[in-house]
Amino acid sequence: MATYYCKHCGQHFSSVTALSNQPCPRHPNGAYRGRHVLYEGGEKETYTCKHCGQRFRSISAMTVQPCPRHPNGSYKGRHSPAL
Ligand SMILES: [Zn+2]
Ligand SMILES: [Zn+2]
Repeated sequence: MATYYCKHCGQHFSSVTALSNQPCPRHPNGAYRGRHVLYEGGEKETYTCKHCGQRFRSISAMTVQPCPRHPNGSYKGRHSPAL
């Protein structure tokens, strides 16, 4: 069965509908200020941040940490997975 990940928090869901129906605790506008957003890349051994290139074992491990090269400013946002 397919698994769908949120690119902001790494939570996974069995359908895109379930994912996009629920508020995201790591939404860029603030916790629960928006819904989960589908990560459109495939499942990987390691995920690379598209801003700084750091690698992580999971999207949830990546998105819990602020990014030194975030486009809004250093550490002004979290790492974000490249596709
Ligand atoms: Zn989320
Ligand atoms: Zn980063």
